Order: sequence, then structure tokens, then C-alpha cells
Amino acid sequence: MTYLTIPICGKDLESCKEQIGSAVKAGAQMLELRTDYLQTLDTNILKNLLAEAKKTALPVIVTCRDAKEGGQNNIPAKIRKNILIDAVKFGADLIDCEFSNFINFEDDIQNVLADNKKTKLILSEHNFKEPFENLAEIYEEMYSVWPDAIAKTAYNATHINDCFAAFDILHEYGEKAIAICMGPAGAISRIMAKKLGSFLTFSNLGGDHQTAPGQVSIELMKKLYRYDAMNKETKFYGVIGDPIGHSISPAVHNSCFAAKKMNSVYLPLLVTGGKPEFDTFLNNINSRPWLDFKGFSITIPHKVNALEYAQEKGEYIEPVAVQIGAANTLSIGKNGRISGYNTDYTGAMTALTEVMGISKKELKGKKVACLGAGGVARAIIAGLTDVGAKVTIYNRTLTKAEGLAKEFQCHFADVDKLRKLDADIIINCTSIGMSPNDNESPLPKECIKPSHTVFDTVYNPKETMLLKDAKAAGAKVVHGTEMFVYQAAEQFKLFTQTDCPMEIMRETISKSL
Ligand code: NAP
Repeated sequence: MTYLTIPICGKDLESCKEQIGSAVKAGAQMLELRTDYLQTLDTNILKNLLAEAKKTALPVIVTCRDAKEGGQNNIPAKIRKNILIDAVKFGADLIDCEFSNFINFEDDIQNVLADNKKTKLILSEHNFKEPFENLAEIYEEMYSVWPDAIAKTAYNATHINDCFAAFDILHEYGEKAIAICMGPAGAISRIMAKKLGSFLTFSNLGGDHQTAPGQVSIELMKKLYRYDAMNKETKFYGVIGDPIGHSISPAVHNSCFAAKKMNSVYLPLLVTGGKPEFDTFLNNINSRPWLDFKGFSITIPHKVNALEYAQEKGEYIEPVAVQIGAANTLSIGKNGRISGYNTDYTGAMTALTEVMGISKKELKGKKVACLGAGGVARAIIAGLTDVGAKVTIYNRTLTKAEGLAKEFQCHFADVDKLRKLDADIIINCTSIGMSPNDNESPLPKECIKPSHTVFDTVYNPKETMLLKDAKAAGAKVVHGTEMFVYQAAEQFKLFTQTDCPMEIMRETISKSL
């Protein structure tokens, strides 16, 4: 069992009591009393606090953290030592003592633990700046000093690739260890801890109750990351990108996994940097099949890196993804073999043909005005020209429109010519109109006729200014959310070889937006 642990960090007994009540209500499986947060700390207060926590019947850790390792209130060593000794005497299930202090406190804590065998010891070491260079040695030393200890390290992950050293420790020691990566890049280590059999993982009550950087609230742990459903067999998926905090993909895919009762969890994977960092991340994943990662959605800025990674490894890439020059999906099959796809274009084509009530083949000969010449435009133009649609590209930077038109053998024009556009379908592939610029549109409303089908790839907001104008003009409209739904549904199928529950996906997308 990996205990989902809530640190209790009130400044006084009353606020601690409130936090204990909230932690129980939220579903905590263990409490950590961070006594160093208390503004007045003595034996009596500790006794009362511990008694209050023990009423919950949850296992309780008592910690009185040294300021050098992230503690509050700069409590002198002698008081910290006495608090830990008293905690053992008062029946704490566990005490957490910094490894360096455990040695400095000489035999005092060792003696009290020897006399009170029910209390277990967590030996910990923290680095709020960077990863430890000698992580494996730290664990070996801790176990050599106190073989029954649960050895814990917490270090700041400067990059997601720093998490793999912690995963290796958990893979080796399981419930005898805790290995936490702090900071946004380390957040996945807190979620994945359960799959890897860690003794515990820390969460919090949300708001200002965070006791270390990168902690994930208990609400998100349970509702978004399916903590209760996770076990050693869980498979992982995720979206690789930078930034990634805004992505609705974790909510979308996890709600589908939950609806289908699949033992899978989808994570946000913040991979900063360029191709070297992306390659290192995937190499780290591939060399650890026991992590059970089975697929990735890829977003800005890594779609080209994903394609190149698979190509360099001699793996399968679907031909249209090669033509587009970008992969937004990598699936990991048997023996770790990777295959790459681009579901942006299939998502767009499905959304468009559904609204028009035609098949993809029937797009042949349709005149399409494509606004924009970036990544999404490229994917959609590849799909449209593949079926024989007649595309004209309009873009602010004309040279980009020209280059794309040459590559896909279609037309291009200056945005000034938009007022005279002659098209059956208009597709906005620029970011104009995207929140917070909801009042902007890439096209003057006078240009829209009832005969047009207007497709806006922007999905936040759902009703963009362009689509409002199109509706008012009596044109058919295709929402960016539908493209999002279909590209995600296609990814789900590539990941799991099963259909995704479309209504759940739609519901989650509209709730998330
Ligand atoms: P991108 O590669 O950065 O391309 C952006 C395009 O927008 C370029 O053509 C750029 O023109 C143009 N543009 C940006 N700001 C402009 C402005 N102020 N005036 C005129 N043109 C402007 O981005 P992308 O990956 O293609 O994404 C484009 C949009 O697609 C995003 O905003 C997103 O909302 C949408 N999208 C939707 C889905 C979906 O599933 N529905 C999926 C992914 C993306 P220049 O070449 O002149 O810079």
C-alpha cells in the first residue's frame, strides 16, 4: 500500500484540528504532523495534537523539520530531538528524522525507538535546489545505519528527466523507500509513486496548504489522476509538451479510462528544452519498460521531435504524418516498439465532413480557403490535398503560405485578398480569436455567405467571434472542439485499440473549457 499522506501544517492546535478533519473527509490514508509549523511547541501541545490525530485511526507521522532541510520557525536542535523522542513515547506510528541529525542526535532517538518497537523511523534527506548526485549511495547509507528505516529523499527536479533516478530507487526498494521530486517538473513522481510501490506519497488540501513545491492536491490526485484505481499493473499515458499546465488532455483521457474501467492513468509531461531533452526523456522511458508507459500525445514544441525520434530509431510512422512532418501521437507496442501518427488531420477531416454530411472522398474538388500556415494548417492541408480539395492558403507571412503551397501543390494569396475569396469551405488555422482575444476574428464578417461552411480550429472559446459571425450569416459551422474530440478519440483508439466513449469525452471537454 502507498499511503496517500496529508501534512498537517497549522500554526496552532485549533487550525491543525480543522486540517485533520478536512484530511479525513478528503480521503487521506496517513497524516504527517508538521510540528515545526506550530508557533508554540512543547510536550503538552504535541501530546494533544497527537491524541487528536490518533482519533482518526489513521497512521500518524510526527515530523519536526530542521530549517536547513525546509523546516519552519527555526526550531533549535534540542527541542526538535525532544519532540521526536516524546512522539515515540506518546505512540506516534512513525517519526521522520533528517539523516544528518539522526547521526548527530547520538543514541537518544535510537534508544527510544529500541524501547518502543511499534514506532517506525523515516530517515530523510532534502535538497531544495537540485537532484542528489549520489542518490543510490544515500539509500545504502541510511539502510546500513538503521536497517528497518524507511529511507526518504526529496530533491528539486530541474527537469522531468531528473525523475528517473527516483523511479529507479522506488523500483529497487518499493515500500521501504520514499523518493520525491519537488517542483513542477517532479509532479509526476508524486502521482506515479503508487504504481512504483512507494511507502507513501504526499498530497495536500489545496489552497495554501502546500508544504513542498510541486505537491498535487488530494482532490486532483483522486479525481483527475485516479489515485484510488491505480496499482502496480497500471499503464501510463501522457501529453508531452511545454507549457503543459493548461492542457485539458489529462482530464479528457482520464475520464474515458474511468468510464471504461481501464487500469490506465494519463499524465501531463512537462518536457522543457529541445530535441536533446525530448530524446533523453523517451530514451529514459524506453529503458524502463517496468514504468509501463504505453503512449503519448505530443504537443508544442515537440511534434517534429517526435517524428524525428521515431524515424531515427527506424520505427513506423504513418505516411501522412511523414508528409505533414510532425507526429502528435506516439504509441508504444510490444517489445517497446514505437509507432507515430498525426491525428490532427484525421480529427479535422472527420469534424468537417460530419457537419457537411459528406464523406471524405466527397471533399474532392471543394474550394477551401485556409487561413494560416503553421503546424495545424500544414496537417489540415495535407489531409485536404490528399483527397483532392482545391486549397488556397492565406497567411500574414506570405512567404510561409508560398512555401506550404509549393509543397502541397495548392494556391496561396495575400490576406488582403480575403475580401474577394471564392470558397465552399473556410478554415481558420491561425490563433486569432483564441482566449483571451475572444473579440478578434481572422475574417471580416461581410466575407461570409450562407453557402459557406466555416471551420474554426480554435477551441477556446468554443463559440469564437468567427463562428458567431458565420452563424449570423446563416453559414454552417464546425467547432474546434469537434476537431479536438475526434483527434483525441483517434489517439485513444491508437493507445488502447478500443473505441472511446464519445459522449464522456465531449462532456469532459466542455466542462474543462
Ligand atoms: P502555429 O504553428 O504557431 O501557427 C500560427 C499561425 O497563426 C501562423 O500561420 C501565424 O501566422 C498565424 N497568426 C498568429 N497570430 C496571428 C496574428 N495576430 N495575425 C495573423 N496571423 C496570425 O500554431 P498552430 O500549432 O498551427 O496552431 C494554430 C491554432 O490551431 C491554435 O491557436 C489552436 O487554437 C488551434 N489548434 C486546434 C486544435 C484542435 O484540436 N482544435 C489542435 C491544435 C491547435 P504567421 O505565419 O504570419 O506567424
